[in-house]
Amino acid sequence: MAHRTMNCRDKKRRRNRLYRMYGKRCQQCGKTNSLTVDHIIPLSQGGTNALSNLQILCRACNQKKGASLPPMDGGDLWAAY
Ligand SMILES: [Zn+2]
Repeated sequence: MAHRTMNCRDKKRRRNRLYRMYGKRCQQCGKTNSLTVDHIIPLSQGGTNALSNLQILCRACNQKKGASLPPMDGGDLWAAY
C-alpha cells in the first residue's frame, strides 16, 4: 500500500520536473492541454522510467506515435490538466 502512494507521488514529481525542463506543452506540436507523459522507448521495448526516456506529448501526438505499437498499460498515460 505504502509504495503505491510513493510511486504516485514520484510520478507527479517527475512530471513537474519535465514541465520545468521542457515547458508545459507538447514537444511535437506545442499544444498546452491534454498533455501526457510519454516513454520515448516504451517500457515494453526495454525503455526505462528515467527522465531522459520521458517526453511530454499531447494525447493526439501520443496516439499518433503509439498507433503502430501495441497498446501500453494505462500507467503510462498520466492524467492531463
Ligand atoms: Zn502534440
